Amino acid sequence: AKRLGVDSFQQFTTEIGEALHSRLALENDIRTALAEEQFSLHYQPQYDAQRRVQGFEALARWRHPTRGWVSPAEFIPVAESSGLIVELGLATLALLRRDLDGWRVRGINCPTVAINLSWEQCRKPQHRERFLQQLRSLRLEPQDVEFELTESADFEDIDTPDSFIFTLQGLGYGLAIDDFGTGYSSLAYLRRMRCRKLKIDRLFVHGLSANADSHMLVESVVRVAHAMRMVVVAEGVELPADEAALVTMGCDLMQGFGFCRPVPPEEVAQLLVT
Ligand code: C2E
Ligand code: CA
Ligand code: CA
Ligand code: CA
Repeated sequence: AKRLGVDSFQQFTTEIGEALHSRLALENDIRTALAEEQFSLHYQPQYDAQRRVQGFEALARWRHPTRGWVSPAEFIPVAESSGLIVELGLATLALLRRDLDGWRVRGINCPTVAINLSWEQCRKPQHRERFLQQLRSLRLEPQDVEFELTESADFEDIDTPDSFIFTLQGLGYGLAIDDFGTGYSSLAYLRRMRCRKLKIDRLFVHGLSANADSHMLVESVVRVAHAMRMVVVAEGVELPADEAALVTMGCDLMQGFGFCRPVPPEEVAQLLVT
């Protein structure tokens, strides 16, 4: 038994060591990727009830020279815990600027693009200031970009009067609450935030037409959000039956593989011609 204990302890420490090592390796790779501009943005359209594109969400993409495509589910958490998300967030704005310019040159008038904003980018005053400075120097105007923030316990930050959320809104930028239903925000916060959009997480959206509980929850959220004059976006719409149910509920916008996967900037134009 003692022998087994030692072996499993060794195995345990080996596993921790490996996990730590791969996390550090990933962190270094992100640093290199930022320096060598390995990141790009893909764009997923958001559709209204008539299946017209009304906006896009920009999603970070990373093509590593040897690993190939690395999923945001893998690199965003490491970027957040290492603080590199601050640099990545600034790089994302620059990528959006580049893509907007590319579209403009080709005569493409793109609707507002939503960029994901991590709470780690909002916490420290110097990070907020660099973000605002980047917006200014890139001339990203409120008609160009809006921001998505995941609802989280950090919403309590809005108790501070100089809250970044209110700063951005004061400058005219639209904000969306992302992944709604998976976090901790209360109705009181929803009311105080006064966000333009509410994005219902795909956990509640997928299969809602066949699930009475999901259907009831989403329908209620749509009603509450509309009462607060928010635009409701359903995420992860994959099934025609779910789309039909969402349209019947009056959900304003839908986004999901059932409509379109995120596409590289070159493919945005063809989504806009109707
Ligand atoms: P998110 O903000 O909730 O973005 C939506 C995610 O759902 C995207 O995954 C998108 O590809 C995926 N998706 C869209 N439609 C469907 C669908 O019908 N079914 C399913 N199963 N998935 C769908 P992605 O691109 O892998 O991004 C994952 C997460 O990484 C994002 O979740 C966001 O939280 C984060 N992320 C991505 N790009 C950025 C970024 O530039 N900055 C920050 N801070 N976070 C980012
Ligand atoms: Ca998002
Ligand atoms: Ca989301
Ligand atoms: Ca998410």
